[in-house]
Amino acid sequence: MNRAFTKTNLKHLTGILQRFQSTLVVAEHNNEKLTPITLNAITAASKLGGEVSCLVAGTDCAKVAEEISKVQGVKKVLVAQHDSYKGSLPEELTPLVLATQKQFNFTHICAGASAFGKNLLPRVAAKLDVAPISDIIEVKSPDTFVRTIYAGNALSTVKCNEPVKVFTVRGTSFEAAASEGGSATSEDVAATSPAGVSEWISQSLTKSDRPELTSAKVVVSGGRGLKSGDNFKLLYDLADKLNAAVGASRAAVDAGYVPNDMQVGQTGKIVAPELYIAVGISGAIQHLAGMKDSKTIVAINKDPEAPIFQVADYGLVADLFKVVVELIRRQLCLARTAKRETH
Ligand SMILES: Cc1cc2nc3c(=O)[nH]c(=O)nc-3n(C[C@H](O)[C@H](O)[C@H](O)COP(=O)(O)OP(=O)(O)OC[C@H]3O[C@@H](n4cnc5c(N)ncnc54)[C@H](O)[C@@H]3O)c2cc1C
Repeated sequence: MNRAFTKTNLKHLTGILQRFQSTLVVAEHNNEKLTPITLNAITAASKLGGEVSCLVAGTDCAKVAEEISKVQGVKKVLVAQHDSYKGSLPEELTPLVLATQKQFNFTHICAGASAFGKNLLPRVAAKLDVAPISDIIEVKSPDTFVRTIYAGNALSTVKCNEPVKVFTVRGTSFEAAASEGGSATSEDVAATSPAGVSEWISQSLTKSDRPELTSAKVVVSGGRGLKSGDNFKLLYDLADKLNAAVGASRAAVDAGYVPNDMQVGQTGKIVAPELYIAVGISGAIQHLAGMKDSKTIVAINKDPEAPIFQVADYGLVADLFKVVVELIRRQLCLARTAKRETH
């Protein structure tokens, strides 16, 4: 058999198969704006080859549908509006995803691996009687994905033989799809009748002018070394000088210093900013699992043996209460100098 010929055929066949892929990305949004992780999920979906459609389900979400229609790589936006989609409850959204799947026969269904995706897609997979794949960090081929195991200490390559591949996407592992330049068509899909097994009553969100933790370019995180919630004010001040988000270790969250939506790590949020500043954090593997892909890591810790220094690009063995105050003071000086130079 001619080897080169076989290889060409194989490539050709792969190309044909990829054209038959069609992926549904379930969009996460608040009826006003798309949540950034959906753009990362769209990039992952685009890597499968084939068409990418996005499902926008909400109460009054025309604005979001329009936003997605401009995202590069999206071919079709499916829009479903109903009061029961308030709060994006998985019990209400699952029948809609299943009905959409029945209508369009997608080969893949995915969403970002945020609380929204983690809440919804396992339910969808169970209803389709397929095994879901969570938190993928790479698409090798339409049926083969890479994900981390053992708190990020090993990579597992998973081949999925299910007729429909259902997976969630780690946002930090895929670039965000360009939010301009696309021209997807939009189609209304019929809302499913309310399941009525759960009800969205209200939500209270932390209001902050700081950037969102998972998409911030700079993150300042504090650990048990801060010693109290009041002392986190130091980190908020530093973060405001750097236009950074503030994160925390689980020990800081468990001690009640800060709310749990600030937790970074295996059981918290996964972040990969340009700059991650770990303050008074020892660097347990469960914490590293959530931040070790950051481009530059700075650690401030008084213990030179702290494991965080093994992953840090820059380490400062010092008392955080002295260093952070000094950093804020220097940032202030820098800002003043820059202001004087522009005048
Ligand atoms: C299943 C499981 C899941 C987990 N998930 C997570 C997770 O998602 N995220 C997470 O963070 N952890 C997680 N943990 C917990 C993790 O194992 C650690 O207990 C936790 O990360 C420790 O937090 P810490 O570094 O703030 O506290 P510590 O380990 O107590 O470290 C505090 C550090 O502060 C330093 N320090 C103290 N005072 C000062 C000072 N004045 N100046 C400078 N440095 C100072 C100390 O030297 C020390 O290194 C998980 C654990 C388990 C078992």
